[in-house]
Amino acid sequence: MKKARSRRRPTTAGAGLAPFAACAESGRGRQYPEPTHAWRGEFQRDRDRVIHSGGFRRLVYKTQVFINHEGDLYRTRLTHSLEVAQIARTVARALHLNEDLAEAIALAHDLGHPPFGHAGEAALDECMKPWGGFEHNLQSLRLVDELEDRYLAFAGLNLCFETREGILKHCSRRNARRLGAVGERFLLRQQPGLEAQVVNLADEIAYNNHDVDDGLRSGLLSEQALEAVPLFRRHHVPLLDAHPAASRRALIHETIRGMINEVVSDMVATTAANIAAHAPASIDEVRALTAPLVALSPATRTAHRALKRFLHRHLYRHERVLHLTSRAQEMLKELFACYMNSPEAMPVEHAMRALLQESECGEAGRARAVADYLAGMTDRYALSEYRRLVDATADFGQQQHA
Ligand code: MG
Repeated sequence: MKKARSRRRPTTAGAGLAPFAACAESGRGRQYPEPTHAWRGEFQRDRDRVIHSGGFRRLVYKTQVFINHEGDLYRTRLTHSLEVAQIARTVARALHLNEDLAEAIALAHDLGHPPFGHAGEAALDECMKPWGGFEHNLQSLRLVDELEDRYLAFAGLNLCFETREGILKHCSRRNARRLGAVGERFLLRQQPGLEAQVVNLADEIAYNNHDVDDGLRSGLLSEQALEAVPLFRRHHVPLLDAHPAASRRALIHETIRGMINEVVSDMVATTAANIAAHAPASIDEVRALTAPLVALSPATRTAHRALKRFLHRHLYRHERVLHLTSRAQEMLKELFACYMNSPEAMPVEHAMRALLQESECGEAGRARAVADYLAGMTDRYALSEYRRLVDATADFGQQQHA
């Protein structure tokens, strides 16, 4: 990573922050006011609440690209979230943004992801079409706002506005209208704070790079094929030439390390230049801009996108990945139908919630309770429920060894 300019480092959250960084003291606060903590800042408390949530623990058995049963060395949503947090914190610190907030958003950003990755999300969205669909970002917010049952005084985690704003990365205008203040920016076409913008880009950088690693590990990608991608080639080929006897694992790691460093360094430099050009005096001035300030330079964006396209073509749409994900989608759809027909097949608190919501808003209420239950499942729990309710012998086929 490029060295940050040698300005004084903030030692505590709040101190040493740039004027355009989020600051809890002047922030929009929590829905239910709470007394401040003796030594923990508000965004630090949010980060801690996310880490202690049930949703966060379940990320360990949720898929990123590979189904969770495939091997122990692939990324899961948990390790992905930690990698996003690492990049986001690095960038936040370099730009004098609020590191605690960036970390809280990063750790929470995928909480609402259903089992089986994006395939699971698409299946659940299809099941929920008649009742408003399913979006994982919205579900992450729903989890921290309503579903986590950990406090006596309120439902959810009562996170600060700025954390919730960062979690809601995308949102349809239809959904934004019913979300109140946190949905407003999608209607006004405004930006979130810089910490949220940092996490958005850190998310992409993290998965682009770790999917190269997992893709190589799985054997679905090869170094030879990846050399068609300029970003990979310019880090990998010189290393190969300089270290012909090095282990394959070390060469791959050094290549990916170089790729992450190049893109993140560009992100810091480009964003710092954008900030200097616009000179926002506050987070509200950042929000009012028509485009995000956190960005990559045109050349790096092109390189980063070329890698993304390569992964789409050769990894996410690989025959074996598609086979697994279509099987996973069938399972989720069948489970959805099972619980819709027999809500009592869910654990009692979910069955009760289905009943209650149905009495309030009809079938849509029952469907939302079923979707919430399914979205909370890990890959392996979804498979075990499928075996219990539909087919006792179901599996994904051959286990792959990492
Ligand atoms: Mg993510």
